This record gives sequence, structure tokens and C-alpha cells, in this order.
Amino acid sequence: MGLSARVRDEFPLLGQSAHGKPIVYLDSAATSQKPREVIDALVRYYEEYNANVHRGIYAIAEKATLAYEEARGKVAGFINARRPEEVVFTRGTTEAINLVAYAWGLHSLRAGDEIILTTMEHHSNLVPWQLIAGMTGARLKFWDFDGEGKISLEELDRLLTGRTRMVALAHQSNVLGTFNPVAEAARRARAAGALVLVDAAQSVPHMPVDVQQLGADFVAFSGHKMCGPTGIGALWARYEHLEALQPFHGGGEMIMLVELDRSTYKEPPWKFEAGTPNIAGAIVWGAAVDYLTRIGMEAIRAHEQQLTGYALVQLQEIKGLRIHGPKNPAERGGAIAFSMDGVHPHDIAQVLDQEGICVRAGHHCTQPLHRRLGVAATVRASLYLYNTADDIDALVRGLDKVLAYFAPSRRSGVGAEGRRGA
Ligand code: PLP
Repeated sequence: MGLSARVRDEFPLLGQSAHGKPIVYLDSAATSQKPREVIDALVRYYEEYNANVHRGIYAIAEKATLAYEEARGKVAGFINARRPEEVVFTRGTTEAINLVAYAWGLHSLRAGDEIILTTMEHHSNLVPWQLIAGMTGARLKFWDFDGEGKISLEELDRLLTGRTRMVALAHQSNVLGTFNPVAEAARRARAAGALVLVDAAQSVPHMPVDVQQLGADFVAFSGHKMCGPTGIGALWARYEHLEALQPFHGGGEMIMLVELDRSTYKEPPWKFEAGTPNIAGAIVWGAAVDYLTRIGMEAIRAHEQQLTGYALVQLQEIKGLRIHGPKNPAERGGAIAFSMDGVHPHDIAQVLDQEGICVRAGHHCTQPLHRRLGVAATVRASLYLYNTADDIDALVRGLDKVLAYFAPSRRSGVGAEGRRGA
């Protein structure tokens, strides 16, 4: 699993320790760590050309504006957008989805119109639609997953009607890890006259994503999950949609002409970027895109697939541990949620924390999904380009400690000593 040996040293945080143990970071689905060159780009911006964008005509303001717009171009190139102007900077995936829900849904949906969502959606691709449905009288319909955590296109065909206006779904589930068939879903939904929004928060960071091939109308994703800073993300949309949509926020810099009682707006994407944007965030996200591009998204996906396969095999050997989601690493990403019979997820996370292992315990912003699984919470270990087989081995040894505390009779004895290289 060669990739990470090369890149791991580039992430300063991965050299830190917690509770006297080297940090094993397995929570990249929540947020990723940042390589040195991305951190340096942040310092360089604030030390050398911190100024507001699209306003000043002095040198550093022009440099900041140029860098901000260059970052838009980098993000657009990363997802193969037709043009940079199809990328609207937002605070992240959540704001990007809210932008569509309000700027499109509030103005376009009528009572009785239908919005189809899967039952595995993150709250950020569920709650905005609940709000808009409440305001417009539109109806939410749910596309459920099967026992393996997969959704079927036949079920989508059954749900689509002449009233379906929007199909919104995650590309990769942040809990089940499932890759959903978004391109085929987009083809079928658009053929039925609906728009399609893809929540790509867990796919753009982990695999090549080409928005033209996806064929959706809107794609939302976050910078902080792909080695960039927090507080920045994007909505990609077909340009004709951005032209047709109403602004989401009003304020400075999104206008052409302001009268006391009305205004005209700039062209997209700027009409959606009211106020001082997250300039540092966008520029530094551009540095993260450069970093990931240099490593190569194919190589990152191959590394994660291999490591996910290894993790699934190792975890399934632990007695009483159940993985939620597909078991074939080709069908899923590296967000791996699991339950251990008789042990509370928070207890698991706490024991692992004492070993320096960072995992997440809880509902991971997917309460309906957890209800559907019949559990209140799960533990989630999630992988990225810097993780190694040693990290998985550390997790398995940590879980053996969990068994030692909470279910000693289930210990197989291999957890602490018998694993690869341990
Ligand atoms: N959608 C999915 C699938 C996610 O995993 C996340 C974050 O965990 C989000 C949306 C929300 O992203 P953000 O908090 O960056 O807006």
C-alpha cells in the first residue's frame, strides 16, 4: 500500500501524539488532515497579500483577487466543469445544498410536487428539503436501501412520477460507504423531467469525479474533507441553472446596480457570493487541489480501495462486530461504520482514544439511517490517502482492548499480537 508511505510525512498532525501514543487518525470523513504545503499557503496569504477581493485596485488586492479566481478555476478543473463560472464558492456542502433548496426550491416548487431523497442522506441533504417542503407544500419521498446498504435503480423508477421535480442523493454514504449509482440515477431522473443534486462531500475528496460524466444538475462538496481548510466548499451547477436562479444571499459585491427599492445582480457565480467571501479559504483550497492533483485521484482511490479491503477483512474477524454497508471494497469507499454486540459506540471510541486512535461515535448526522439500521449510534473509522495498514492494525488492537474491557469471553487472542507486523 505504497501511496501513504510517501505522503504520510507531509501531514504534520500525523506526527503528533495523544495520551502519550502516536495519533492514528481515522476520522477523515468528518474532516481531513492538511499537508504542510496547504498550511504554508494559508500563512503565505496572510503574510503576503491579505486584502479584500473584487474591490481594491492596489497591488495586493489585485493579487488576492487573481488568486481567489484562480482557485475557482482549479476547483472547476478538478471536477471537469465546463467553465470556472459554474463553481459557486460556499461555506461547504451544507450551504451549497441550502443554496439550491432556497434559490431554486422556494421559487419553483408547488404544492404536490415531489422531492426524492434516499434514506441514507446526511442531515445536510435532508433538513433543507424538509424546510422547503414545509414552505411550498412539496412532498418528500424516500428511496430506501437494502440489507447491504445499496439502493436500486428499479426502486427509483417506481418512485419517479410526473410530479417529481428533484432527486437529491449522496454519491458516497458517509456511514455505509456505499457508492450510489448517481450517473444512471441522473439519467433516469432527468429523462423523467426532474433535476438532480448530488451530495459529493464524500466522493470528490476520494476518487476522480467528472461532473460532465455524472450528468447531474447540481453537485455539492466541501474543501475541508479534501485536505483544504474549513469554511469553504462549492456548488457546481450547469451554468444555465445558475443564470435562472434567484440569488440566495443579498449584500455587497453580488450586485450590478442598487436603487433604494430594487437591485440588479452580477452574472453567476458572483451573484451568489454576497459579502466578503472566504478568501483565504478559497485560495488555500486551491493549494489542496494542486496537492491532490499531483498525487492523482486514481492513485488515491486505488490506495483507499486496497486499504478498505484490508480493513474489512480484519474487522470481520472480530467476534460480535458487524459492519454496516457493502463488504466488497470495489462498491464502496473507506467510511466504515460498525457495531459491536453489547458495547456502546461511545465506550468503544473512548477506549480507542486512550490508544491515540481517532474514530467517530454517534449518528454521524444521519439519524434516519441509523433508525433504519435499528441502532442509535455506530462507530465509524474512515480512511484517506495518508492512512496505512499499520493504522488498521492499531485499530484492531484497540478493538481487542475494547473486548478485554467489555466482552473478554469474545477475545480471539489474535487482536493484540497475531496481526500483520504487529
Ligand atoms: N454530506 C455528506 C455525505 C457528508 O459526509 C457531510 C459531512 O460530514 C456533509 C454532507 C456536510 O458537509 P459540511 O459539514 O462540510 O457542510
